[in-house]
Amino acid sequence: MLNAIKHDGKADPGSVLGNLLGENPDLKPKAKEMMQLVRPVVVEVNSLSVEELNREASEKWPEELVKEKVEEERKLPPLPNADKYSQIVTRVAPNPDFVLHIGNARAAVLSHDYAKMYKGRFILRFEDTDPRLKKAQLEYYDIIREDLRWLGCGWDEEAIQSDRIQNYYAVGKTLLSKGYAYVCQCETERWRALVAAQTPCPDRELGVEPQVSRWERMLDGGYKEGEAVFRVKTDMSHPNPAIRDWPAFRVVDAEKNPHPRVGSKYRVWPLYNMASGVDDHELGITHVIRGKEHLTNMARQLFMYEYLGWKYPEAVHFGRLKVEGMNLSKSRMMKALDAGEYKSVDDPRLGTLAALRRRGFSPDTIRQLIWDIGPKPVDVKISWDNVNALNRKIIDPTAHRYYFVPDPIKTQVSGLQKSLEVKAPLHPQNAGMGMRTLHLQEDEGAAKVLLSGSDRAVLVSGKDVRLMGLFNVRPLGFSGNDLKVEFLGEPTKDSESMPILQWVPEEEKVPVGVVMPDATLREGFAEKALGQEQVGSVIQFVRFGFGRVDEVNPNRTTVYFAHE
Ligand SMILES: [Zn+2]
Repeated sequence: MLNAIKHDGKADPGSVLGNLLGENPDLKPKAKEMMQLVRPVVVEVNSLSVEELNREASEKWPEELVKEKVEEERKLPPLPNADKYSQIVTRVAPNPDFVLHIGNARAAVLSHDYAKMYKGRFILRFEDTDPRLKKAQLEYYDIIREDLRWLGCGWDEEAIQSDRIQNYYAVGKTLLSKGYAYVCQCETERWRALVAAQTPCPDRELGVEPQVSRWERMLDGGYKEGEAVFRVKTDMSHPNPAIRDWPAFRVVDAEKNPHPRVGSKYRVWPLYNMASGVDDHELGITHVIRGKEHLTNMARQLFMYEYLGWKYPEAVHFGRLKVEGMNLSKSRMMKALDAGEYKSVDDPRLGTLAALRRRGFSPDTIRQLIWDIGPKPVDVKISWDNVNALNRKIIDPTAHRYYFVPDPIKTQVSGLQKSLEVKAPLHPQNAGMGMRTLHLQEDEGAAKVLLSGSDRAVLVSGKDVRLMGLFNVRPLGFSGNDLKVEFLGEPTKDSESMPILQWVPEEEKVPVGVVMPDATLREGFAEKALGQEQVGSVIQFVRFGFGRVDEVNPNRTTVYFAHE
């Protein structure tokens, strides 16, 4: 129960067993038998809600619960200067021009979990102030909310930057009237030359009054796109050219580039550092936890914070997370999506959370991955195999098992005396999950089954094989794609080394299409009992792999493949 409470209501049999063996090392030789005892208990515990778990545990083992909490807090390194704040406030700030992927799940999970660890607040902030190049899409606001809920990162407050434009305008006006900013009319090329030469723009030293009137002209539509940029004064000889007088507002052709939420209401839009910098202050963010690619942004914003007498939040910058064999570049994914290479953001080839969710990955896999890496500033590279192995460990104890035969081979079994009803467990280690039933229909001494096309080589070789949970047969040979086998006998100890093949009764076959990670479709048939699963169930096709039921349909049930 403690393990379940620690993992949002889902105990993991592997770690429960690990804890037991840690406390009783002399039991290690009996690990296998213990696992048989642990699994049904875990299933029972996992059927309780988090509230029920907490209630029972706090009644029976209050001291253990406290110990467990302390241990959990120990897992992430403490936040800098956390004791200086009466309440810790963190945020995740996605741009809804795309959905979340494994890479940026890290900022979300760490920011959320740190807020929770310190009993603080976690804010979701949509950064949607670029209607031209990083244009938000309405459906992505919702998918991102779903992504976060799925990850277990519920938020206490939501802010949307396109609702807060007046706040940025107000700060802009203050900076101008204090002489810390100016409206620059340079063309792009001229500005680049000035930056390279470390020479100030002549507009920089105009008095406050002309600056304010230029600002009003910007807001009133007196400048066209590209004709004026609001810049925050920094240091034109700053060693990093990217920091020299950074742009804070620009004019966008509002008719040509309407915003999906506020339409053509605004023609002056704040750039990233203005909007993000103002929000971190005004929303009371105490700790910003994000990738180290934001270090330059912090250096830019620090000028503005100093001018306005604000205190910059504590900043934790972590390294990049790369998943081998997976393209996590947002711009590349978006380009391919626009080009029609992918149909949707949950295309199985993508590393988006939406795609992983659709394929049956557990949010616990993503969370555990992020916790293992933590907020380290070094870059981390993990392999897909690691992600798959972690996920397998998490979904294996609860996934129902079914037979599925891709590229089926029509097989006639001869030498039968009678029809058979076969019961097979939904989970091999857990009889408590129930059974499924398959019927083998005997007709004139024979029955029809389907075998997997993947087993063709074994069947061609003529070696005796066992049909899983049924009996042993001897292949008699193919005629085209049709195979004849003859009944050999009940499984015995001597025949244990035979290949054991899954099968589907011809009379009960259910058409199934499995969408593979490369988006190809693998077609075949599964046993009838698959029809009892709901959309969203994570299952295992025996000897094929794990997946998630995407659509239940008598014409063709669709399953998305996770991994072997
Ligand atoms: Zn200029």
